Amino acid sequence: MTPPTALTIAGSDSGGGAGIQADLRTFFAHGVHGLVALTAVTVQNSLGVQGFTEIPADVVTAQIKAVASDMGVNAAKTGMLATAEIIRAVAKTLDEVEVGSLVVDPVAASMTGHALLREDALEAIRTELFPRATLITPNLDEVRLLTGISVVDAASQRSAAEALLEFGSRWVLVKGGHLVGTPECVDLLTDGREYRELSGPRYETENTHGGGDTMASAITSSLAKGASIPDAVAAGKKFIERCVAEGYSLGAGVGPVSPFW
Ligand code: PLP
Repeated sequence: MTPPTALTIAGSDSGGGAGIQADLRTFFAHGVHGLVALTAVTVQNSLGVQGFTEIPADVVTAQIKAVASDMGVNAAKTGMLATAEIIRAVAKTLDEVEVGSLVVDPVAASMTGHALLREDALEAIRTELFPRATLITPNLDEVRLLTGISVVDAASQRSAAEALLEFGSRWVLVKGGHLVGTPECVDLLTDGREYRELSGPRYETENTHGGGDTMASAITSSLAKGASIPDAVAAGKKFIERCVAEGYSLGAGVGPVSPFW
């Protein structure tokens, strides 16, 4: 039987913890066939990102068109997009092909603080991609970069979600995992009418590399299988909780969330 398909438009992680490597194994774990439009090759290990080289924008476009025209894309996600030129090319291409739902994970930097996006590119994500997105999945650092709002509690998380909706996506998920000192990780999902708080345990672990990518690709997998946004996000949260709980150390720095469970 032919499985559903999901397309990741994202960068490669030489350390195998994040990027397309995390996306593909998450799609696989959900019984979804993974398709790839590679945007950048990063050089990184557990200590951080040493640098990256972007793929020419026309090659990113060609990868998306090649798979969408032949294999079909039930859902797509964007991760590391590297440059404003690639973002503009992806946005234009997404108008020309059918990709089902689109999850935009506005990746700006690694958790070790290294930029994964050239400086002018965040504005392009906001103006070119958010209006085309079914769902955007920023963490609190990305929320601050995108809106200027520092989320410190439930009220500011809601204000940030409302500010993000103004950029035009259908749904916003403000992930609360980076809020320190709270016993629970509370994510807020909204389309402006419905507000859902998704609460889960906070695990004391250093090994969270690739967590954002893994959650966004878990959500994308469920969407590819036909789930609604609230159901896909709830399932994605359960999935990432287990991956974080089983994260392991590898190398001298930050280890990955685990795909083995
Ligand atoms: N490398 C690539 C290619 C990524 O896409 C990402 C996150 O999206 C990262 C590194 C950073 O991952 P983390 O912030 O989990 O360390």
